[in-house]
Amino acid sequence: MSQPVDVVVIGGGIIGCSTAYYLAKEGLSVHLVERDKIAQGTTRAAGGMLGAHSEYLNDTFYSFAQESQVLYSEFQRDAGVDFGYTAGGIVQFACSEEERIALSRWKNAVHLSAEQVRERIPHVAPPAFGAYLFEEDVHVHPEKACLAFCAAAKSLGATVSEQATVDEITLLNGGYQIRITSSVINAKHLVIASGAASAKLVSGLQMTAVKGQCMQLNAVGMQLPYTLFHKGCYVIPRPGGTLVIGATMEYGHTDLQITDAGNLALSAIAERFIPGLSRLPVMNRWAGLRPKTVDDLPYIGRIPGNENMYMAAGHFRNGILLAPATACLIRDLIIGNEMNTERIKAFDPKRGIFHEANNRTERQSV
Ligand SMILES: Cc1cc2nc3c(=O)[nH]c(=O)nc-3n(C[C@H](O)[C@H](O)[C@H](O)COP(=O)(O)OP(=O)(O)OC[C@H]3O[C@@H](n4cnc5c(N)ncnc54)[C@H](O)[C@@H]3O)c2cc1C
Repeated sequence: MSQPVDVVVIGGGIIGCSTAYYLAKEGLSVHLVERDKIAQGTTRAAGGMLGAHSEYLNDTFYSFAQESQVLYSEFQRDAGVDFGYTAGGIVQFACSEEERIALSRWKNAVHLSAEQVRERIPHVAPPAFGAYLFEEDVHVHPEKACLAFCAAAKSLGATVSEQATVDEITLLNGGYQIRITSSVINAKHLVIASGAASAKLVSGLQMTAVKGQCMQLNAVGMQLPYTLFHKGCYVIPRPGGTLVIGATMEYGHTDLQITDAGNLALSAIAERFIPGLSRLPVMNRWAGLRPKTVDDLPYIGRIPGNENMYMAAGHFRNGILLAPATACLIRDLIIGNEMNTERIKAFDPKRGIFHEANNRTERQSV
């Protein structure tokens, strides 16, 4: 049996690793447990956009996302490692008057006419109604960012166990006994950050998966200064001259197959932004499962009926963006810092926990 710790975090994706980091930074003893290897779940499949504006859901989401963007820039400075944090911004296309009006409501966006788009981004097909540049919406390399959080947590004393699946959680003496593949860990607090698999650990939790496929093109020689975004689709420039094209939204699919239909959809996205782009050599293709909640907002907070048990999962399209802010919210809950009550309510996991009772589905504690 390992030494008892303050907190066990289940899941070594971007949410679990950033949570381990911010908890360890507070001096808590942390043990992170991952069933596979760090950053090999949905985190690895992400494009890496920190799209607070492009992914806007409501004002609570927006202020949380903005805070996360600031935390990333601080972490970039403190960590001293390169995780692909790339400034420049996201350019959102306006292909209709309706889209232009919607984008023009953002006071912090710079309007670019179709002519200015052509001048700044030479290869693109300029959108009929111009575009808006959001400078705060930068991007990171998701897998590298996750590994950087994990390394930073370890350097602060956190223990990380890979190839260790949690298969049983027992309440014991006011804390938790967590049974993993080959041993047992005791902890006062438990954080479930297991992405799309979280429903296996919390009974009655409503979590579905939405498959997304991406492709990476070799675009050496094409200097794309911004991420390009339109209606959930994007082209992200990665250092070294490659472009990530994303992503399909496939409801009801829980496999990770690369399909012909996916390739066709991604080629169409590429052509929509830059004519001829789909003819560039494909370097890589992949798929991931976005963890989707009942209302697309993440579940972050205490799990009802279970003292000292927390959930940080269900970040859908925005887990990379929201990771540091999520981690800090969990940290604040655990150490008892003052918190934004609006967020606690909006992200409360209880809105996604249901139990079958008398042939009726009703909301209950686990
Ligand atoms: C195609 C695509 C593009 C995306 N693009 C973006 C983007 O540009 N920006 C953005 O912000 N978000 C994006 N996302 C969403 C983002 O990838 C996810 O929201 C995020 O990765 C979720 O992180 P996570 O840590 O919760 O889950 P994961 O990365 O899946 O991590 C959960 C981990 O828990 C482990 N685990 C599960 N069960 C157990 C268990 N019982 N015991 C131990 N370990 C366990 C898993 O092995 C896994 O490693 C994208 C997603 C996809 C699919």
